[in-house]
Amino acid sequence: MVEPMTVGIFVDEPSEQLLERALALEPTDACLADLAQRLKTIAETEQNSLLRARALFLLGKYYSAHYNYLEAINVFESGWQHCHLLAPDEQRSYLLLLCKSHFALGQFESLTGRSSDLLKLARETADPTYEIEVQSLLGSLHVVLGIFDTALQHFDRAVELVNQASSPLPAHLLFALGRFYYAKSDGKNSLYYYERGFLQALPEKDRQIEGVILNNIGVYYSDLKDYARAIDYYLQAMKASRECGDAWTLTLECNNLGVDLLERKRFASARRYFYLALGYIAKLPSTSRESLIKGNLGELAQMTGDIKAAQQFLHESLELAIQSRDSRRLQERYEDLALFYESTGDLVNALKYHKLFHRQKLQLVESSASVRSTLLQNKFELEKLRQEQEIHRLKNLELSTAVQELEQLSNQDGLTGLFNRRFFDSQFQAMFDKQLKKQQSFCVMLADIDNFKKINDTFSHTAGDEVLKIVAGIFMNSLRDSDIVARYGGEEIVALFPKTSLENAVKVCERIRIKIEGYPWQDLERDLNVTISIGIAENLYDSVQTMLSAADAKLYQAKRKGKNRVVS
Ligand code: GH3
Ligand code: MG
Ligand code: MG
Repeated sequence: MVEPMTVGIFVDEPSEQLLERALALEPTDACLADLAQRLKTIAETEQNSLLRARALFLLGKYYSAHYNYLEAINVFESGWQHCHLLAPDEQRSYLLLLCKSHFALGQFESLTGRSSDLLKLARETADPTYEIEVQSLLGSLHVVLGIFDTALQHFDRAVELVNQASSPLPAHLLFALGRFYYAKSDGKNSLYYYERGFLQALPEKDRQIEGVILNNIGVYYSDLKDYARAIDYYLQAMKASRECGDAWTLTLECNNLGVDLLERKRFASARRYFYLALGYIAKLPSTSRESLIKGNLGELAQMTGDIKAAQQFLHESLELAIQSRDSRRLQERYEDLALFYESTGDLVNALKYHKLFHRQKLQLVESSASVRSTLLQNKFELEKLRQEQEIHRLKNLELSTAVQELEQLSNQDGLTGLFNRRFFDSQFQAMFDKQLKKQQSFCVMLADIDNFKKINDTFSHTAGDEVLKIVAGIFMNSLRDSDIVARYGGEEIVALFPKTSLENAVKVCERIRIKIEGYPWQDLERDLNVTISIGIAENLYDSVQTMLSAADAKLYQAKRKGKNRVVS
């Protein structure tokens, strides 16, 4: 039995290994061309969805790097449902390449359908280069659709991102800006940006964009009917595109050169370039471009009086336009044929193609209206998303301020769960006034943890916090419900004992002091010991302030006398 040959030495290589190898290659690498066949096999036969998705990604990347956009789109579209299995940066690259391919082929509706996904991915990534490319592409999309204000917004964002990175504007963005001004019939600015783009392409060593820009400068001069200069630019452009293997741009350059030669009635040269363009296009292939060139060959034949050849080219061109599903191209072809039949006196056919031309034009207007409305909807949705994010942000902000306010308004101390000083002060004043009226005895106590600074320093601030919580807990559990205990400051605790004599207050405090001293602190930290000092004052004073000062003075005495004691 004869084994079918796949690609020589790679036949037995496992998919995974082959994909690893392919991933490491540049998409333009010649080796990848060898692997393309195997990638196709993997994409068709592999059971593992991830490997299949990766093979399609690499294949699509390979095709788009070789300007075979049609094949790239086919591959990307067929792998789309599994694209989410790929790594995030692969997914981003996948979508961007797919969208760029749609743009290159004039599939604006398809690109529009994916534009909101593209923007979302761009906003999610921290890679500004990616978003710059996306904004530039979407700007260009809006330019060709004639939605200039939105185009400018996209370009503005791209420029802003470039400026943030303090890098020079990339050539592709400068080119897109040039294209924008060209579409706005602002030739001067368009030339300015094309030239800046060209200069930037040199250090970027990007021959591809160089070719594209030179071609567009050529178009600028063609419009001015400065054919000599235009032709010069086209020739330079062709050199750049040929060097980097960009057959896609090369066909356009050859075609444009042919058209200018036609204008100068240099028919033989024009024909040569049209055929050269056809040769390049055959490698890609692209029915839309082929249709364009055949149309021009038709015109050439007509100009040289070869009506039969002209008719044949124009009809071939129409067939290709139908196949390409490029509606703009189709509209051009109907118009060409209508004018052709009119000039030959065949009015029946002239009318037929005029009608088709108008119907197509109407359809194009309708479809571009639908593209516009999708884009508007996208814009609206993105705006909504941005607003929601902003509301979310504000809500969070509001919430944190509200929490702070609530904390302040509430009576509790966050760490210990005791009442806070604010609340204590208000209660103290109220009790002072009440007891004064009733001439009842009540006491205030001020407690301070001994050597707390050392506890923090020796064990840790967290251990210090724990100690504070435990001490607070002991106070809470040791006091009556009618007593009010609060955190007065750092490691100071204050308590009010209503309807209590000084004698009784001392007893209560002494009990608490002993409890704290005897608490098994070593369970918390091995060498930890905690004691407190307490000062007590009775309501023999004329204000809460003087009463507190008296308690504070007693506390000071307790510390002076050696700490871990109650003084009244
Ligand atoms: P003394 O026996 O004289 O009271 O000495 P001390 O170290 O306890 O007194 P000092 O006032 O010098 O130190 C109090 C320390 O309490 C300083 C401060 O860092 C600490 N502190 C205040 N509030 C907190 C808190 O909420 N948690 C913790 N872990 N430490 C606190
Ligand atoms: Mg203190
Ligand atoms: Mg202390």
